[in-house]
Amino acid sequence: MGLRRSIYKTPAQLRSMMEPGLITAAALDAVRAMIAPGVTTIELDAAASRIITGRGARSNFQLVRGYRHTICASVNEQVVHGIPSDRALQPGDIVSIDCGAERSGWNGDSAVTFVLPDPARPQVVAEREELSRVTEGSLWAGIAALARARHVADVGAAVQDYVDAQPGTYGILRDYVGHGIGRKMHESPSVFNYRVPDPGPEVRPGLVLAIEPMVAAGDEATFVEDDGWTVSTRDGSAGSHWEHSVAVHDDGIWVLTAPDGGAAGLAPFGVVPSPIQ
Ligand code: MG
Ligand code: MG
Repeated sequence: MGLRRSIYKTPAQLRSMMEPGLITAAALDAVRAMIAPGVTTIELDAAASRIITGRGARSNFQLVRGYRHTICASVNEQVVHGIPSDRALQPGDIVSIDCGAERSGWNGDSAVTFVLPDPARPQVVAEREELSRVTEGSLWAGIAALARARHVADVGAAVQDYVDAQPGTYGILRDYVGHGIGRKMHESPSVFNYRVPDPGPEVRPGLVLAIEPMVAAGDEATFVEDDGWTVSTRDGSAGSHWEHSVAVHDDGIWVLTAPDGGAAGLAPFGVVPSPIQ
């Protein structure tokens, strides 16, 4: 018992998590700048890698046993854990990019979804943009909930409520969840994206969570592809994944993987992030 590290970080430890968070954000910015039809997902991986190593950090995805890349790139019916390859992105593709950086022994973890334009298929593009909007909205709803939450499970309830309130039917993946983050990319506790009976740990200063809703445009059932990693929807419907690493501290919350601390994303929810002192 005494050997188990507390899930709650000190203020100094929270400050140490700001730089890996910002490096992770910069890596995703580099991917965003490159996203276009014809670009391969391995080229996106290389761009993210350049940013991370160029800022004196290392890819924490490469610390995951058996994984050799800097990002996960999940295209169309793939929701998470897609492996970068020479697959060229096509007009109308929806692609989720997940990335993380470790700097000075502390970790960041964040994911974004892009939809490529396709003038020939406006309806497909509109549906995929809506899926991404709903998923990103549920992320910010979960982060906003964390600002007021008593227990970790309040986050998942807010994510589910947000998705359930949208027009249309979406499937929240059940088999994959968010997590604590700190010295390791994946720490306790689990952060569910739906209501669970167990309230989970108390939300108090020092808690840092990677909140990461994964949502399908159809049914939530998924399977792992033959490559042993890629998680795809069983019904072939499109998937979206958004993620941020978020710190709870004495003055409120701060989104470590957003340069503005989450101010823009949280504004619709009436939550103002506070810088970590
Ligand atoms: Mg991630
Ligand atoms: Mg994560």
